Amino acid sequence: SKDKGRNGYSFFTNDLAVDIEEKTMMIHALKASIDKKDEFFLLYQPKTSTLTGKITAVEALLRWNSSEVGKITPDTFIPLAEETGMILTLGAWVLNQACSDFMLLRNEGYLLEHIGVNVSSLQLQRDDFIKTLNDVLDQTKIDPKWLEIELTESYLATDADHALSILRTLRDLNINIAIDDFGTGYSSMAYLQKLSVTRLKIDKSFIDDLPLSSESIAITRAIIALANTFGLSITAEGVENHDQLCFLQDEGCHEIQGYYYSKPLTLNELKDYITNQ
Ligand code: C2E
Ligand code: MG
Ligand code: MG
Ligand code: MG
Repeated sequence: SKDKGRNGYSFFTNDLAVDIEEKTMMIHALKASIDKKDEFFLLYQPKTSTLTGKITAVEALLRWNSSEVGKITPDTFIPLAEETGMILTLGAWVLNQACSDFMLLRNEGYLLEHIGVNVSSLQLQRDDFIKTLNDVLDQTKIDPKWLEIELTESYLATDADHALSILRTLRDLNINIAIDDFGTGYSSMAYLQKLSVTRLKIDKSFIDDLPLSSESIAITRAIIALANTFGLSITAEGVENHDQLCFLQDEGCHEIQGYYYSKPLTLNELKDYITNQ
């Protein structure tokens, strides 16, 4: 699935089913980039309160601009980094960079409530994850309550007992925990109560069809009700238009993330964005 360099920089399509040759090449390039470190960077997507229309927080999103294979999206390279174990080094770098950028923002007077950081199941399953995290807290001096770790439902399904204990440890450290892409996996309701989760993020696939699809409406309402029942915060992901925003606002979902407000921004763009509000 090669794109013959039409746009000049990316000759891989972002096809999840990359063929074996592309895959081998990408893994090779990924390894070289991780050794060099300078081809990765983070963008920050604003999360906005529908009550004030103002930015409340951000999510860190990893980008890879490879000299060997061009710009590859996370949906393509994260699975490869997971498959090869490289996500451990990369994920630790992401945590450190995101937390130090957040502290830099705070020290310059840009006060956000928290920074969301995506953490892969593989990282969470590792015995040394809490040590890695403590090192990040020590080095960046971030207050743990400003960090929100985003994990997926699939992680909760893999090893429930281990997940329960790791999440409790995170909460004991005062770190917040969001379940990302909520509604696409299999979290049982009983389980949600036992888990020390603090936020649900409604998956974009349900938001896409709002406010027209009765199924998406029903699912969105159910997730909001679930969050309210368990006292969890709630965020809608992938909000792109005003109709979606109005629907969510009426339903009591007060945190919105999506292109309607802003695409992911560089740190400098983020500062301007906050200043101009
Ligand atoms: P996610 O954590 O669910 O992040 C939200 C994704 O939706 C981001 O895609 C974001 O750019 C995109 N998005 C947000 N609002 C809109 C919208 O209004 N319209 C559309 N079309 N898209 C929107 P992105 O940055 O490509 O990341 C994709 C996924 O890759 C993330 O999904 C997350 O699962 C993973 N990822 C990204 N960065 C990291 C990371 O540092 N570590 C790990 N483990 N995974 C990451
Ligand atoms: Mg996320
Ligand atoms: Mg998501
Ligand atoms: Mg996603």
